Amino acid sequence: MRAVKNIGKLFICLFLIVGLGVAAVGCSKNEQQSAPNQAGQGTGEPGQNSGPGSEPSGADPGTDPGADPALPPDPADVSRTAALLRDRGIPVLYYHSVMIEEGNELRMPPEKFDQQMAFLRDNGYESVSLAQLYAAAYEGGVLPEKPFVITFDDGYEDNYTNAFPILKKHGFTAAVFMITAYIDGGGFLSWEQLRALTAAGWEIENHTVNHLDLTTIDEAALLAELRFAKEQLEAGLGTTVRFVAYPYGVFNAGVIQAVRDTGHQMALTTLRGWMSTQDDPWHVKRVYCYATMSLDEFARRVQNPNY
Ligand SMILES: [Zn+2]
Repeated sequence: MRAVKNIGKLFICLFLIVGLGVAAVGCSKNEQQSAPNQAGQGTGEPGQNSGPGSEPSGADPGTDPGADPALPPDPADVSRTAALLRDRGIPVLYYHSVMIEEGNELRMPPEKFDQQMAFLRDNGYESVSLAQLYAAAYEGGVLPEKPFVITFDDGYEDNYTNAFPILKKHGFTAAVFMITAYIDGGGFLSWEQLRALTAAGWEIENHTVNHLDLTTIDEAALLAELRFAKEQLEAGLGTTVRFVAYPYGVFNAGVIQAVRDTGHQMALTTLRGWMSTQDDPWHVKRVYCYATMSLDEFARRVQNPNY
Protein backbone atom coordinates (compact mmCIF):
# COMPACT_ATOMS: atom_id res chain seq x y z
CA MET A 1 0.00 0.00 0.00
CA ARG A 2 2.74 2.34 1.03
CA ALA A 3 4.67 1.82 -2.23
CA VAL A 4 1.50 2.35 -4.26
CA LYS A 5 0.81 5.57 -2.37
CA ASN A 6 4.34 6.83 -3.03
CA ILE A 7 4.11 6.00 -6.71
CA GLY A 8 0.80 7.82 -6.77
CA LYS A 9 2.43 10.88 -5.17
CA LEU A 10 5.28 10.69 -7.67
CA PHE A 11 2.82 10.72 -10.58
CA ILE A 12 0.97 13.67 -9.11
CA CYS A 13 4.27 15.55 -8.74
CA LEU A 14 5.33 14.72 -12.28
CA PHE A 15 1.94 15.76 -13.57
CA LEU A 16 2.17 19.10 -11.77
CA ILE A 17 5.71 19.78 -12.99
CA VAL A 18 4.85 18.98 -16.63
CA GLY A 19 1.61 20.93 -16.36
CA LEU A 20 3.29 24.02 -14.92
CA GLY A 21 6.00 23.87 -17.54
CA VAL A 22 3.47 23.84 -20.35
CA ALA A 23 1.53 26.69 -18.73
CA ALA A 24 4.65 28.85 -18.42
CA VAL A 25 5.64 28.30 -22.06
CA GLY A 26 2.07 29.06 -23.09
CA CYS A 27 2.08 32.38 -21.22
CA SER A 28 5.33 33.62 -22.65
CA LYS A 29 4.28 32.63 -26.13
CA ASN A 30 1.03 34.53 -25.76
CA GLU A 31 2.82 37.61 -24.51
CA GLN A 32 5.16 37.57 -27.47
CA GLN A 33 2.30 37.12 -29.89
CA SER A 34 0.13 39.82 -28.41
CA ALA A 35 2.90 42.38 -28.08
CA PRO A 36 5.05 42.19 -31.19
CA ASN A 37 6.04 45.84 -31.07
CA GLN A 38 6.88 46.11 -27.41
CA ALA A 39 10.37 44.69 -27.45
CA GLY A 40 12.79 46.46 -25.19
CA GLN A 41 10.17 48.18 -23.10
CA GLY A 42 10.82 48.82 -19.47
CA THR A 43 14.57 48.86 -19.90
CA GLY A 44 16.53 51.98 -19.26
CA GLU A 45 13.49 54.23 -19.14
CA PRO A 46 14.09 57.31 -17.02
CA GLY A 47 11.74 57.51 -14.10
CA GLN A 48 10.55 53.93 -14.31
CA ASN A 49 12.55 52.73 -11.37
CA SER A 50 13.35 55.99 -9.68
CA GLY A 51 11.57 58.56 -7.59
CA PRO A 52 9.01 58.20 -4.86
CA GLY A 53 6.35 56.98 -7.23
CA SER A 54 8.04 53.82 -8.40
CA GLU A 55 6.20 50.55 -7.98
CA PRO A 56 7.51 47.06 -8.59
CA SER A 57 7.63 46.63 -12.34
CA GLY A 58 5.24 44.09 -13.76
CA ALA A 59 2.33 45.34 -11.66
CA ASP A 60 -0.57 46.20 -13.91
CA PRO A 61 -2.80 48.71 -12.16
CA GLY A 62 -5.24 48.57 -15.05
CA THR A 63 -6.59 45.16 -14.18
CA ASP A 64 -8.40 43.94 -11.11
CA PRO A 65 -6.51 40.89 -9.82
CA GLY A 66 -9.67 39.67 -8.08
CA ALA A 67 -11.72 39.43 -11.25
CA ASP A 68 -11.43 36.32 -13.40
CA PRO A 69 -12.01 37.38 -17.01
CA ALA A 70 -13.15 33.85 -17.85
CA LEU A 71 -16.12 34.14 -15.53
CA PRO A 72 -19.21 36.05 -16.65
CA PRO A 73 -19.74 39.18 -14.53
CA ASP A 74 -22.14 39.02 -11.63
CA PRO A 75 -25.57 40.19 -12.93
CA ALA A 76 -25.92 42.38 -9.83
CA ASP A 77 -22.69 44.20 -10.76
CA VAL A 78 -23.87 44.59 -14.37
CA SER A 79 -27.13 46.22 -13.31
CA ARG A 80 -25.39 48.38 -10.67
CA THR A 81 -22.94 49.60 -13.33
CA ALA A 82 -25.71 50.25 -15.88
CA ALA A 83 -27.67 52.25 -13.30
CA LEU A 84 -24.58 54.25 -12.35
CA LEU A 85 -23.86 55.14 -15.99
CA ARG A 86 -27.48 56.03 -16.69
CA ASP A 87 -28.53 57.86 -13.53
CA ARG A 88 -25.34 59.47 -12.31
CA GLY A 89 -22.50 59.05 -14.78
CA ILE A 90 -18.73 58.73 -14.45
CA PRO A 91 -16.28 61.64 -14.18
CA VAL A 92 -13.82 61.63 -17.09
CA LEU A 93 -11.13 64.13 -16.10
CA TYR A 94 -9.19 65.98 -18.75
CA TYR A 95 -5.79 67.53 -18.37
CA HIS A 96 -3.17 68.72 -20.80
CA SER A 97 0.24 69.28 -19.25
CA VAL A 98 1.54 68.51 -15.74
CA MET A 99 4.30 71.01 -15.01
CA ILE A 100 4.74 74.47 -13.52
CA GLU A 101 4.23 77.48 -15.75
CA GLU A 102 2.83 80.61 -14.14
CA GLY A 103 -0.20 82.00 -15.93
CA ASN A 104 -0.87 78.95 -18.11
CA GLU A 105 -3.96 77.19 -16.81
CA LEU A 106 -3.39 74.19 -19.10
CA ARG A 107 -0.26 73.26 -17.15
CA MET A 108 -1.19 71.63 -13.83
CA PRO A 109 1.58 71.94 -11.23
CA PRO A 110 2.81 68.41 -10.34
CA GLU A 111 2.32 68.98 -6.59
CA LYS A 112 -1.29 69.96 -7.16
CA PHE A 113 -1.86 67.00 -9.48
CA ASP A 114 -0.45 64.75 -6.76
CA GLN A 115 -2.88 66.22 -4.20
CA GLN A 116 -5.82 65.65 -6.55
CA MET A 117 -4.84 62.02 -7.13
CA ALA A 118 -4.27 61.50 -3.39
CA PHE A 119 -7.77 62.87 -2.74
CA LEU A 120 -9.23 60.33 -5.17
CA ARG A 121 -7.26 57.42 -3.79
CA ASP A 122 -7.98 58.33 -0.14
CA ASN A 123 -11.68 58.50 -0.94
CA GLY A 124 -11.80 55.06 -2.56
CA TYR A 125 -11.89 56.04 -6.23
CA GLU A 126 -10.42 53.68 -8.81
CA SER A 127 -9.23 54.74 -12.25
CA VAL A 128 -10.65 52.77 -15.16
CA SER A 129 -9.59 52.75 -18.79
CA LEU A 130 -11.63 54.09 -21.68
CA ALA A 131 -11.93 50.49 -22.88
CA GLN A 132 -13.47 49.52 -19.53
CA LEU A 133 -15.75 52.53 -19.66
CA TYR A 134 -16.89 51.68 -23.18
CA ALA A 135 -17.46 48.02 -22.28
CA ALA A 136 -19.49 49.03 -19.23
CA ALA A 137 -21.58 51.56 -21.15
CA TYR A 138 -22.29 49.56 -24.29
CA GLU A 139 -21.33 45.90 -23.82
CA GLY A 140 -22.67 44.92 -20.40
CA GLY A 141 -19.34 45.26 -18.61
CA VAL A 142 -18.88 46.16 -14.96
CA LEU A 143 -17.06 48.98 -13.16
CA PRO A 144 -15.91 49.37 -9.57
CA GLU A 145 -18.12 51.28 -7.11
CA LYS A 146 -16.30 54.61 -7.51
CA PRO A 147 -14.78 54.70 -11.00
CA PHE A 148 -13.24 57.65 -12.80
CA VAL A 149 -11.13 58.14 -15.94
CA ILE A 150 -8.02 60.30 -16.40
CA THR A 151 -7.30 61.72 -19.86
CA PHE A 152 -4.52 63.95 -21.18
CA ASP A 153 -4.94 65.84 -24.45
CA ASP A 154 -2.19 66.60 -27.00
CA GLY A 155 0.60 64.34 -25.66
CA TYR A 156 2.96 66.56 -23.68
CA GLU A 157 6.23 64.95 -22.62
CA ASP A 158 5.48 65.77 -18.97
CA ASN A 159 2.64 63.26 -19.10
CA TYR A 160 5.47 60.73 -18.95
CA THR A 161 8.10 62.56 -16.90
CA ASN A 162 5.77 64.11 -14.28
CA ALA A 163 2.29 62.58 -14.37
CA PHE A 164 3.28 58.93 -14.89
CA PRO A 165 5.30 58.57 -11.63
CA ILE A 166 2.53 60.29 -9.65
CA LEU A 167 -0.16 58.05 -11.11
CA LYS A 168 1.96 54.95 -10.54
CA LYS A 169 2.33 55.92 -6.89
CA HIS A 170 -1.44 56.07 -6.49
CA GLY A 171 -2.13 52.96 -8.58
CA PHE A 172 -3.90 54.81 -11.41
CA THR A 173 -3.56 54.72 -15.19
CA ALA A 174 -4.62 57.24 -17.84
CA ALA A 175 -5.33 57.75 -21.52
CA VAL A 176 -3.37 60.15 -23.74
CA PHE A 177 -4.98 61.70 -26.82
CA MET A 178 -1.87 62.11 -28.96
CA ILE A 179 -1.35 64.56 -31.81
CA THR A 180 0.69 62.22 -33.98
CA ALA A 181 2.61 64.89 -35.92
CA TYR A 182 4.10 65.98 -32.57
CA ILE A 183 5.50 62.56 -31.60
CA ASP A 184 9.27 62.82 -31.00
CA GLY A 185 9.00 66.60 -31.24
CA GLY A 186 10.35 68.90 -28.53
CA GLY A 187 8.17 68.93 -25.42
CA PHE A 188 5.97 66.09 -26.64
CA LEU A 189 6.00 62.36 -26.03
CA SER A 190 8.44 60.15 -27.94
CA TRP A 191 7.65 56.76 -29.39
CA GLU A 192 9.80 55.22 -26.68
CA GLN A 193 7.78 56.97 -23.98
CA LEU A 194 4.49 56.06 -25.65
CA ARG A 195 5.52 52.40 -25.70
CA ALA A 196 6.50 52.52 -22.04
CA LEU A 197 3.14 54.06 -21.12
CA THR A 198 1.32 51.43 -23.18
CA ALA A 199 3.26 48.67 -21.42
CA ALA A 200 2.20 50.19 -18.07
CA GLY A 201 -1.50 49.95 -18.98
CA TRP A 202 -2.07 53.45 -20.36
CA GLU A 203 -4.14 53.96 -23.51
CA ILE A 204 -2.77 56.07 -26.37
CA GLU A 205 -5.69 57.29 -28.45
CA ASN A 206 -6.47 59.54 -31.42
CA HIS A 207 -6.24 63.34 -31.32
CA THR A 208 -5.64 63.52 -35.10
CA VAL A 209 -2.40 64.14 -37.01
CA ASN A 210 -2.25 67.95 -36.97
CA HIS A 211 -4.82 69.15 -34.41
CA LEU A 212 -6.87 71.18 -36.88
CA ASP A 213 -10.40 72.46 -36.34
CA LEU A 214 -12.10 69.47 -37.99
CA THR A 215 -15.20 71.48 -38.91
CA THR A 216 -13.20 73.73 -41.26
CA ILE A 217 -11.45 71.19 -43.51
CA ASP A 218 -12.81 69.26 -46.49
CA GLU A 219 -13.97 65.69 -46.20
CA ALA A 220 -10.84 64.10 -47.67
CA ALA A 221 -8.62 66.01 -45.24
CA LEU A 222 -10.95 65.23 -42.35
CA LEU A 223 -10.83 61.49 -43.07
CA ALA A 224 -7.05 61.62 -43.52
CA GLU A 225 -6.51 63.42 -40.19
CA LEU A 226 -8.41 60.68 -38.36
CA ARG A 227 -7.30 57.66 -40.37
CA PHE A 228 -3.57 58.38 -40.55
CA ALA A 229 -3.31 59.16 -36.84
CA LYS A 230 -5.06 55.89 -36.00
CA GLU A 231 -2.84 53.92 -38.36
CA GLN A 232 0.37 55.55 -37.12
CA LEU A 233 -0.41 54.80 -33.48
CA GLU A 234 -1.49 51.24 -34.22
CA ALA A 235 1.66 50.53 -36.26
CA GLY A 236 3.93 52.13 -33.68
CA LEU A 237 2.37 50.64 -30.56
CA GLY A 238 0.78 47.36 -31.66
CA THR A 239 -2.56 48.43 -30.20
CA THR A 240 -6.02 49.08 -31.59
CA VAL A 241 -7.00 52.76 -31.47
CA ARG A 242 -10.74 53.06 -30.78
CA PHE A 243 -11.28 56.47 -29.25
CA VAL A 244 -10.97 60.09 -30.40
CA ALA A 245 -10.88 63.43 -28.63
CA TYR A 246 -12.03 66.24 -30.92
CA PRO A 247 -9.27 68.87 -31.31
CA TYR A 248 -10.39 72.04 -29.48
CA GLY A 249 -13.53 70.11 -28.57
CA VAL A 250 -14.99 71.18 -31.93
CA PHE A 251 -17.24 68.88 -33.96
CA ASN A 252 -20.37 68.72 -36.10
CA ALA A 253 -22.43 65.98 -37.76
CA GLY A 254 -19.85 65.57 -40.55
CA VAL A 255 -17.01 65.17 -38.05
CA ILE A 256 -18.96 62.57 -36.08
CA GLN A 257 -19.67 60.65 -39.30
CA ALA A 258 -15.96 60.74 -40.20
CA VAL A 259 -14.98 59.49 -36.74
CA ARG A 260 -17.38 56.58 -37.18
CA ASP A 261 -16.30 55.88 -40.76
CA THR A 262 -12.65 55.62 -39.75
CA GLY A 263 -13.35 52.81 -37.30
CA HIS A 264 -13.66 54.55 -33.94
CA GLN A 265 -16.19 53.64 -31.27
CA MET A 266 -16.38 56.67 -29.00
CA ALA A 267 -15.42 60.35 -29.11
CA LEU A 268 -14.72 62.68 -26.20
CA THR A 269 -15.73 66.32 -26.14
CA THR A 270 -14.83 69.23 -23.89
CA LEU A 271 -18.48 69.65 -22.94
CA ARG A 272 -18.89 70.13 -19.22
CA GLY A 273 -20.24 67.20 -17.20
CA TRP A 274 -19.87 63.48 -16.56
CA MET A 275 -19.96 60.65 -19.10
CA SER A 276 -23.44 59.16 -19.10
CA THR A 277 -25.30 56.68 -21.28
CA GLN A 278 -27.98 59.35 -21.59
CA ASP A 279 -25.59 60.83 -24.17
CA ASP A 280 -24.51 58.86 -27.25
CA PRO A 281 -20.87 57.70 -27.58
CA TRP A 282 -19.97 60.66 -29.85
CA HIS A 283 -20.79 63.25 -27.18
CA VAL A 284 -18.87 62.06 -24.12
CA LYS A 285 -18.60 64.91 -21.62
CA ARG A 286 -15.48 65.57 -19.58
CA VAL A 287 -14.45 67.35 -16.39
CA TYR A 288 -11.97 70.16 -17.07
CA CYS A 289 -9.05 70.30 -14.64
CA TYR A 290 -7.06 73.55 -14.73
CA ALA A 291 -4.02 74.88 -12.93
CA THR A 292 -5.75 77.50 -10.78
CA MET A 293 -8.52 75.24 -9.47
CA SER A 294 -8.66 74.68 -5.72
CA LEU A 295 -8.74 71.20 -4.24
CA ASP A 296 -12.30 71.98 -3.07
CA GLU A 297 -13.34 72.75 -6.64
CA PHE A 298 -11.64 69.56 -7.85
CA ALA A 299 -13.47 67.55 -5.17
CA ARG A 300 -16.77 69.14 -6.13
CA ARG A 301 -16.30 68.23 -9.79
CA VAL A 302 -15.52 64.59 -9.10
CA GLN A 303 -18.26 64.13 -6.50
CA ASN A 304 -21.20 65.97 -8.05
CA PRO A 305 -22.33 65.18 -11.62
CA ASN A 306 -24.06 68.57 -11.75
CA TYR A 307 -21.04 70.57 -10.58
ZN1 LIG B 1 -5.98 69.19 -28.08
